[in-house]
Amino acid sequence: KLSKRLQMIADRVPLGSKVADIGSDHALLPTYLAQQGIILFAVAGEVNLGPFEAATRQVLESGLSKKISVRSGDGLAVIEAGEVNVITIAGMGGSLMASILEAGKHKLQGVTHLILQPNVGEDHVRRWLLQQGWKLESETILEEDGKIYEILTAIAVPDEEKLTLEVLYAERELPGGVRVSKERLLQMGPYFISEASEVWFTKWESELKKLAMIEGQLQLSSAEASVAKAEQVGQEMKEIKEVLACLQ
Ligand code: SAM
Repeated sequence: KLSKRLQMIADRVPLGSKVADIGSDHALLPTYLAQQGIILFAVAGEVNLGPFEAATRQVLESGLSKKISVRSGDGLAVIEAGEVNVITIAGMGGSLMASILEAGKHKLQGVTHLILQPNVGEDHVRRWLLQQGWKLESETILEEDGKIYEILTAIAVPDEEKLTLEVLYAERELPGGVRVSKERLLQMGPYFISEASEVWFTKWESELKKLAMIEGQLQLSSAEASVAKAEQVGQEMKEIKEVLACLQ
């Protein structure tokens, strides 16, 4: 049985897809997708030897070697352009995820869905999607074993639609009159802000605590750069609190 997190990622994979799961570790996601008959074919990519061997073993033991190709390599280097139509990347930081997508963007031809679950730094992923003309289609948030995860799904859109993607991040006024900047929308999620859930509030309460700790650390130093940074963190906290107060 999959974890709730991987199950929610699996639920977003369209029936009949060809999937590349990058950073597949034990290849649990492609194994499940193949066993359930959801996908036609999968590539399980891994850059590290241990997880690559674990994935190889898992696929062999599940008798799925014909459906899942386990490949060793960095990011999208394991796929050929046009080979898959869905890419899943889960369980790593958002900035690593964005750099994997950036380095492999010439491989994205024919890809219709990107299903991404960054552990931190979701703003890096949203910014990359926006800059590269991918439409953020949905945002999901879940809590499992005391951890909160976001799943961002993006779809490919025709060139003429790419010009409209900025609209999602256009500065807007919330019901309580607070303005949310593009930066804040990239950080907190344009759909999450429209339809704030309890788990999302919990996430941001805990992010505020982390920011308060960072601010406290910075305030211990009198160096000019630290003072400026502390002020910046303080401003960020103020804005996040305003957004939360407006939506509660
Ligand atoms: N995707 C699985 C999940 O969500 O449960 C495994 C997540 S695991 C925490 C992250 C995996 O990504 C590790 O197995 C690591 O070896 C792999 N990884 C990290 N950087 C990578 C890269 N540049 N290319 C491919 N795999 C990478």
